[in-house]
Amino acid sequence: MADVFEKDLSSSTFFQAMVRTGIRPFYRSTHTHDGETLVDGRSVIMAGSNDYLGLSTDPRVIAAAADAVRRYGTSCSGARTLNGTLPLHGELEARLANFLGTEAAAVVTTGFQANLAIAALLGKDDIVFSDMANHASLVDGLRLGAARRVLYRHSDMDHLAELLTEADPDAAKVIVTDGMFSMGGDLCHLPELTALARRHHARLIVDGAHDIGLLGARGRGVAEHFGMHGAIDFHTGTLSKCFGSTGGILAGPAHVVDYLRHAARSILFSASMPPAALAAGVAALDIIESEPWRRDRVLNLAERLRNGLALLGYDTGQSVTPVVPVRIGEAADCARMWQKLLDEGVFTNAIGAPGVPEGQCVIRVAVQATHTDDHLARILDAFAAARRRPVAGPRSPQTTDQEPVSAR
Ligand code: PMP
Repeated sequence: MADVFEKDLSSSTFFQAMVRTGIRPFYRSTHTHDGETLVDGRSVIMAGSNDYLGLSTDPRVIAAAADAVRRYGTSCSGARTLNGTLPLHGELEARLANFLGTEAAAVVTTGFQANLAIAALLGKDDIVFSDMANHASLVDGLRLGAARRVLYRHSDMDHLAELLTEADPDAAKVIVTDGMFSMGGDLCHLPELTALARRHHARLIVDGAHDIGLLGARGRGVAEHFGMHGAIDFHTGTLSKCFGSTGGILAGPAHVVDYLRHAARSILFSASMPPAALAAGVAALDIIESEPWRRDRVLNLAERLRNGLALLGYDTGQSVTPVVPVRIGEAADCARMWQKLLDEGVFTNAIGAPGVPEGQCVIRVAVQATHTDDHLARILDAFAAARRRPVAGPRSPQTTDQEPVSAR
């Protein structure tokens, strides 16, 4: 008799690799994301965080969050629609709309939910064109929508142009892309995307989860980076990266934001952002606006990291941002590399499918504005040492190729 609980992960190559190597890069307990962290009670460099500006431990952000908890408690205990709206929601939304230069903004509980909300815009006669490297939350948002999905090869503008040309000229169209790609650290080709959108009467939605706060002279994201502030029709984003908080962002024309507030199920049926996260978001935005040195610092560190890795013979792909993927290839090699770096005192992210295509595993390194020059030197030393050291064998006699995966 079939049982829905009878599942195993044997089809996951990364899981197989973990079994084979005995290395567990996932769900490892860390402490703060303050440049350094604790793993297994040992202090290591945190080079695997999305806290690019180093704000999750900033005393001003912490004080604002603590104060909000004292004033409003720990939870809103319900959805915005009914009982979950605080003055802080309105304040953060107004600030974000002003920052992004949009008519309106709405905050939701996570960036994932912000992208799921996009489903409400996608009717059955519409067509959505999506970059193949888009984040899983965008992919799921599009899957939930009724529109036909057409995938274009990652940042391949010729392919997108071809697909747009072939599409029904009368259908409502939308192009959806990450602004800064979360695994590659590369940027969408915004000038070409906006030109194609204009030519084919398509809307352009950009997920700025990683670039809002980070890129552009004032931190307003990928559009500002390209000198095209205002060129994006609709923004989604998150507060969990540059804002050192947690929460999702939807920003664009007021009527669209208002429609989503009332139609998107991920907003309607989920408890709202809690007080601490809201206040942290507002305090972080103050810092994003007033301390541009953080952007300069992290981008400079990233450039030095990429150059240093290239000198060591590592391939960091198309990265131009603080997300620096080091190409490894097979999952077992990636797990071993991750462990060697940890042994050398550097915590990174091991990324396999579905985060990247099968067989194209990377070690994702991310730097933060609060990393010191010494941290950078130690990250590079770790990569140099990892290259020299032989690949470790299985770490535990209990975990071998023969062991049935379902037993774990
Ligand atoms: N979009 C992108 C590009 C992301 O990388 C992420 C998170 N990794 C999200 C959306 C989801 O954001 P959140 O973590 O706030 O749910």
